Amino acid sequence: MTEWSAKKRIKHEETLDPHFGDEIANAPGGEAIFSCIQCGTCSGTCPLSHSMDYTPRRIIAMTRAGFKDEVLRSNTIWICASCYSCSVECPRNIKVTDVMYALKQRALRARIYPKRFPIAVLAREFFQLVRMFGRNTESLLVTALFLKTNPLNLVKQSVLGLKLLLKGRMPIIPLPERIKKRADLQKMLNAVERQEKVDGWHPVE
Ligand code: SF4
Ligand code: SF4
Repeated sequence: MTEWSAKKRIKHEETLDPHFGDEIANAPGGEAIFSCIQCGTCSGTCPLSHSMDYTPRRIIAMTRAGFKDEVLRSNTIWICASCYSCSVECPRNIKVTDVMYALKQRALRARIYPKRFPIAVLAREFFQLVRMFGRNTESLLVTALFLKTNPLNLVKQSVLGLKLLLKGRMPIIPLPERIKKRADLQKMLNAVERQEKVDGWHPVE
């Protein structure tokens, strides 16, 4: 089991989060989770369920039951490749892929994503760049990704970086691309976050 795998242990009901199911049901795409019949079609059709610590069916069941900590710490939400197979096949039209997105968002905000897992780090770094500058700058994004996951990759990719530099496809000193009126963007993002808290987003301790 890797360091970021979810801990599987017996839990007592008072340690669950009774609001978590409603919180995800109120997120875009989560509306139908309470109509899940636990048929397992999503897990059966998922091409990656064999690598997940909890299958998509279990993630839906645990979300409804309030296993917030286990769900947000699971590798499932990061291994999900957003192929939409589960959403297409679900007999109750549950948007499982969108549920995964809602869970990823909450894991990132709660800062409990697996620290060196590239997908989670990439998502967080992308968000931070866009939040700060209104645009993504690929060279900064990739550098931050390597530094926070596997710094050796910076060395391995240095030849490629040099070639891009010589062909003028990469600046010597990468400066962030930025939009005008970034303060307006901050206001919008702050308003969204305030509304999410009003709608019942509860951070994980
Ligand atoms: S396919 Fe749909 S109804 Fe069946 S377990 Fe998965 S989410 Fe639930
Ligand atoms: S969207 Fe994610 S959970 Fe659904 S089938 Fe594809 S990889 Fe599996």
